Amino acid sequence: MRHNYLLILLSILLAPLLLAAAPPPRSAPPPRAATPPDVASYTLRVTLDPAAKTVRGEGLIAYRNPSPDTLRELWIRLYLKAFSTPDSLWLRESGGAHRGFDSADSRGDITLSRLALRGGPDLLASSTLTDTLLRVPLPTPLAPGALIELDVAWESLLPRVFARTGYGGRDDSFFMVGQWYPKMAVYHDGRWDTEPWHANSEFFHDFGRYELEITAPAEYVVAGVGVPSAGPRTVGAARIWPFLAEGVTDFAFAASPDFVTHTAQSGPTEIVLYDLPREGGAAARYLDVAVGALAAYSAWFGAYPHPRLTLIDVPASAGGAGGMEYPTLITGGTLGAEPDAGFLELVVAHEIAHQWWPMQTATNEGREPWLDEGLTEYSGIRYQLESGRELGFGAISAPVYDLASYAAGPGVRSDLPAWEYDSEYAIAVYSKPAVGLLTLERVVGTERFRAAMAAYLAEWRFRHPTAADFRAAMEAELGELGWFFDDYIGGTGVIGYRATPIVNGPDGSSVRVERSGAIPVPAEVLVRFASGRTQLLAHDGGAAPLELSFPAGDPVRAVVVDPEHKLYAELDRRDNGAYAELRLLPQAGFAARLAFWTQLIIQSLGLFG
Ligand SMILES: [Zn+2]
Repeated sequence: MRHNYLLILLSILLAPLLLAAAPPPRSAPPPRAATPPDVASYTLRVTLDPAAKTVRGEGLIAYRNPSPDTLRELWIRLYLKAFSTPDSLWLRESGGAHRGFDSADSRGDITLSRLALRGGPDLLASSTLTDTLLRVPLPTPLAPGALIELDVAWESLLPRVFARTGYGGRDDSFFMVGQWYPKMAVYHDGRWDTEPWHANSEFFHDFGRYELEITAPAEYVVAGVGVPSAGPRTVGAARIWPFLAEGVTDFAFAASPDFVTHTAQSGPTEIVLYDLPREGGAAARYLDVAVGALAAYSAWFGAYPHPRLTLIDVPASAGGAGGMEYPTLITGGTLGAEPDAGFLELVVAHEIAHQWWPMQTATNEGREPWLDEGLTEYSGIRYQLESGRELGFGAISAPVYDLASYAAGPGVRSDLPAWEYDSEYAIAVYSKPAVGLLTLERVVGTERFRAAMAAYLAEWRFRHPTAADFRAAMEAELGELGWFFDDYIGGTGVIGYRATPIVNGPDGSSVRVERSGAIPVPAEVLVRFASGRTQLLAHDGGAAPLELSFPAGDPVRAVVVDPEHKLYAELDRRDNGAYAELRLLPQAGFAARLAFWTQLIIQSLGLFG
């Protein structure tokens, strides 16, 4: 109930402002040239068996030690093990459900049949598996910068679509194959990332080069990460689809006999949609938002670095595979929302933003999920504001939705690992950082904010930044931002200001502006006098109130804190204004009350003055 009330109230108060013209787009400075390192590269030949719901694969993993340390063991992630037994950490934490979908008859698994040094001794017998993680002792240590090549063969059993991977749709002929092959864990900052795969947690992978040949029955169309390195070739009753992907952290593919492709161009990037017309045929909507969002993020943050972006339509009955990001490939779908609700556009704009965060800045998505989902959610809602499009939930715009979501639980910090959250995960990791970043952008100005984001990307593209790196990059451009990083992201307090009643007397006017919230963000203060003259002052965000006094002769009529509504994350703006006229209220009738509410709404909208 509270949530609905907030949605309605906020949409009334804020929606017109959100649709107001934003500053024109500014081109970000061109990012420093950066070449992605080939740390973990894969050359794999795999075969999809749609009847058995399996993928069999073999090939080579080439791992170059990216650290100054000598490595005596490797760690390999076998994600599908999470669905192999109800005793897995993932299924115990999730209770067998994920994002509203349950795992019912969805057993998945992955079984390694070969793991050996290339042309050398077996490594499998001496390896130990714990949950989804395989520890592989090395017969000879791997020196800094040295390359090791592993010969692998395995079989993956795909679940009925669950937690973003598996099969479903018409006659179970749709496949979204993710988290499906033996995957190198990350060695970073002097240690292997051996955090187990948690139900709330996404991923952390190294950059590398992927060369895949995917065999599927001839009637299937296969879409994958990267670019097709050649057209499919037919061999008997099968077709083989070759893909090449460089500078990426993962590989996923989709397959269906029902895919129909549509293409569009966004700058230098080809966008290819694998649409399922049987699911409603949303090609124009997919491509429209994809072209716009890709161009916008490229202009704001730095160019999209790949020649192609692939969009996968997902059947409604396989919704658990929808709304997911891989490098150069995203999945959409309406997730059951009404076709005209704008949800598809919101999902596509969000998933495309992931092509920057974290696909170019490979953060540890489990340990610092807000750097992944928060920056992405911000980018998506910012695209809506810039484009003026209705992305989201019908009449409720996505930024208002995020503000309402944040308002439902503002006392949660955003900087915890994914596995330390429960139901508040979405608020903490998506909505709160998104409205916070929108606030930061408004406080420092769009041009400076985008320049800082672009500088962060340029410095950390194709590397593994942390929240501390993000903070350092932003502060290098914008100055000290303790109020944002320490108090807002890392704290539980809120943004709040209030103005006390105006006192107009024979000796002049006085009014006090004080910070009522814990977050020491500075705020502008607009004073309007009886003559119509205005004065713009500032509260520095400190604990001391701003005591204002003005000489007699031109009484103060109104004081408004944050008149341009830069503090988007401020939840209660009712006390931000003080109005001399409102002393008439107690004995006034309907007209005066209407005037009061009109004035309240006007100051909420930031249109005063
Ligand atoms: Zn996301």
